[in-house]
Amino acid sequence: MSGTQAEESVDRRKYEFQKVIEDLQEYRGTGTQLVTIYVPPDKQISDVVAHVTQEHSEASNIKSKDTRTNVQDALSSIKARLRYYDNPPENGMVLFSGAVDAGGGQTDMITEVLENPPQAIQSFRYHCDSEFLTEPLEVMLTDKGLYGLIVLDRREANVGWLNGKRVDPVKSATSLVPGKQRKGGQSAQRFARLRLEAIDNFYQEVAEMANDLFVPKRHDLDGILVGGPSPTKDEFLDGDYLHHELQDQVLGKFDVAYTDESGLYDLVDAGSAALADAELMEDKEDMQTFFKELHGGDLATYGFEPTRRNLVMGSVETLLISEDLREDVVTYECPNDHEERVLVESRRDTPEHECEECGEPAEVREREDTIEHLMNIADDRGTETHFISTDFEKGEQLLTAFGGVAGILRYSTGV
Ligand SMILES: [Zn+2]
Repeated sequence: MSGTQAEESVDRRKYEFQKVIEDLQEYRGTGTQLVTIYVPPDKQISDVVAHVTQEHSEASNIKSKDTRTNVQDALSSIKARLRYYDNPPENGMVLFSGAVDAGGGQTDMITEVLENPPQAIQSFRYHCDSEFLTEPLEVMLTDKGLYGLIVLDRREANVGWLNGKRVDPVKSATSLVPGKQRKGGQSAQRFARLRLEAIDNFYQEVAEMANDLFVPKRHDLDGILVGGPSPTKDEFLDGDYLHHELQDQVLGKFDVAYTDESGLYDLVDAGSAALADAELMEDKEDMQTFFKELHGGDLATYGFEPTRRNLVMGSVETLLISEDLREDVVTYECPNDHEERVLVESRRDTPEHECEECGEPAEVREREDTIEHLMNIADDRGTETHFISTDFEKGEQLLTAFGGVAGILRYSTGV
């Protein structure tokens, strides 16, 4: 249970990041005046402040007065924010500041600090442009999973990680397996036996290397890819050299020409389809369960209102939300205290509304992000929320045919 909860909050954090990033992507500066700073966890705040101070003084050379003032204001604002920190947060942080175009020749000063992105920030970056720099964060959000990588032939092996999109080579080994040519004076039989023994020893050594690395992390692992020429990789897998729990996590074996560190990168390329499949596996299982209940059972609900009603009742086991759902729920209240909810696309203006029950003009009581609205109810009722990708057919259908919201129920409610 605790594992699931941790996963949920990661999903939720990712979603909240996603939304902030989408907002930041919308902003434009009239000049090169929007400042973005990526601060890795091991960077001294004092170094960042020094860098910002330096940029501030260099900005005095900017020819356009407006741009110069805007850049310097942005940097001052960032400096003010940095005062709240002794050290960067665990995964680092990103600071965004600048005067953004607000239409009609007006600008708005925006300063936003994103702490602790889903993965640690790797390097310090200072960026000044007419847009905020969000790509490194976007890459983090599309990155999913942790995979083990093994490449081997009979001479050499390398093991490492695929963490999101990053390949980390960790360990390598070389073998003492003799070539196929035996030396004069050796009996052919004895030579063959020694050679097989040496191969077996090497496979054991490679397996030990992989076990040492992957077994402690086996519960975080999303799969293992094995690469090499034939028949080495087949012998290695068929011989059950790997720890049995790792053996079960092998997603596939792939032909790669090299077994040095570069072979790990080739392996990721060769296994890309299997990786994409693995990333979508849980989403696919969720949608299969949903469709099975929809067609043959009575534990499916979908659409905003029915799903919401079930959530409030506490009858939803798993809330399924399309990753690409971008709408707000507006709650209206009329003079006769009738409450109604209307869905509005994100970034659209809030429409006028007349009460459907009594026809009186209704007032806006609240406007909230739909996903957050539903997740808050789900959290209160002990319902798990799963985000569903639109990168497969049934995931796309959740968004287009079911309003982006569905649920698998604990018991039938008839709602
Ligand atoms: Zn009314």
